[in-house]
Amino acid sequence: MSAGTSAGAPQGAPVSTGSALGEPCLLLKLGEVVLKGRNREIFERRLQANIRAALREFDFTPDVRQRHGVIAVFLPAGTTVETADKVARRVADVPGLVWIHRAWRVAKTPEAVTKAALALVEGREEIQRKATFAVRSRRRDKRFPLRSNELDRLVGGEINDIYGLPVDLRDPELTVFIEVDRDEVFVFTDGIPGQGGLPVGMSGRALVLMSGGIDSPVAAYRMMRRGMRVDFLHFSGIPFTTSESIYKAYALVRALDRFQGRSRLWVVPFGKAQQSIKASGQDRLAVIAQRRLMLKTAEEVAHRIHAGALITGDSLGQVSSQTLQNITAQDNAVDLPILRPLIGMDKTEIMAEARRIGTLEISELPDEDCCTLLAPRRAETRAKIEDLKQIERRLDAEDLAVQLADSIQEYKLQE
Ligand code: ATP
Ligand code: MG
Repeated sequence: MSAGTSAGAPQGAPVSTGSALGEPCLLLKLGEVVLKGRNREIFERRLQANIRAALREFDFTPDVRQRHGVIAVFLPAGTTVETADKVARRVADVPGLVWIHRAWRVAKTPEAVTKAALALVEGREEIQRKATFAVRSRRRDKRFPLRSNELDRLVGGEINDIYGLPVDLRDPELTVFIEVDRDEVFVFTDGIPGQGGLPVGMSGRALVLMSGGIDSPVAAYRMMRRGMRVDFLHFSGIPFTTSESIYKAYALVRALDRFQGRSRLWVVPFGKAQQSIKASGQDRLAVIAQRRLMLKTAEEVAHRIHAGALITGDSLGQVSSQTLQNITAQDNAVDLPILRPLIGMDKTEIMAEARRIGTLEISELPDEDCCTLLAPRRAETRAKIEDLKQIERRLDAEDLAVQLADSIQEYKLQE
């Protein structure tokens, strides 16, 4: 089931229950519908809770209801079209949904459905240019007096009679969707695509190593979309750099918060530890040694906040720290799994996604990344784990990671 993505929702004055269009509501199509039985129930419950949480910013409480295989969000009578559109856009951030339709809920009679369909078509620009159209009905409740194709023909005939639009069943420019449910019928034309994936909270908790760069926010988004709730950990070069990178990390977390809510950012002042790594003399290994210390610190923090995995924005071969040997050396530093959702993506693909989710602009702001403190002339692309362990013995890296974890500061998101 799909609908066009054009933003051609009916415009106009406030619509109340008494209008031909019935009541404004949203009809939400779920992703990953292959899930069966108990898992499906968990999916649906979690998704409903996440939708309710996302809509808390509105000054009314929408009524979120499970229907057969879909979710309906009923809005208070008298809700304006503009507000309904706003609610739809907010719901479109919630992972687990593939389509968000701004629909009208009408009584379960052929007459009410026809009236609503005509009201939906009325005033649309397609009428002026005599665009092609189709009606597509489906019944989730088979007790409705008309079969789907009968309903298509009834409503399609009326639209054709009144507005003179030609029918094109294969590739219509305008489609009127009619979905018959147990208690009501939903009528709509357009939809906006959702994020897809799984509801946040279904796949456990993870800790994202969040730089101010382009990649790690996209990695965070990808894992949220697979149902993980994520916390964010940023290493700043403080006291040897300014706080700019922290502001950036904070801004990125704010931008990503709309996908999960209640996000937490932790910051580790990392400058002194970096100095110690530098002082250990192994210039070419410094970047990997530092990355291993970040991971060890992140693992310690993860245990404290009950996160079961670490997430990074690594992409294979993108920079010298991301060769296969160096990734192997990083995996070796910790026991927790390191999830790298961008590992097989090209930079252009990652940037396109960053643009779409609204993090690219923030990532491209200038900052003083803590990594630049250690940039050697030639970085090692084939770090040997034994050499790294030698550096770590001198640093007392395990103790240092615990101390660093002790020094974290939480940055609370302002409402
Ligand atoms: P990004 O765009 O995410 O910074 P990158 O291509 O610049 O990635 P690196 O800087 O080598 O690559 O970092 C690889 C990964 O290591 C990052 O995606 C991030 O997960 C983690 N990382 C790097 N620097 C930091 C930091 N200062 N704080 C937290 N995590 C970091
Ligand atoms: Mg970076």
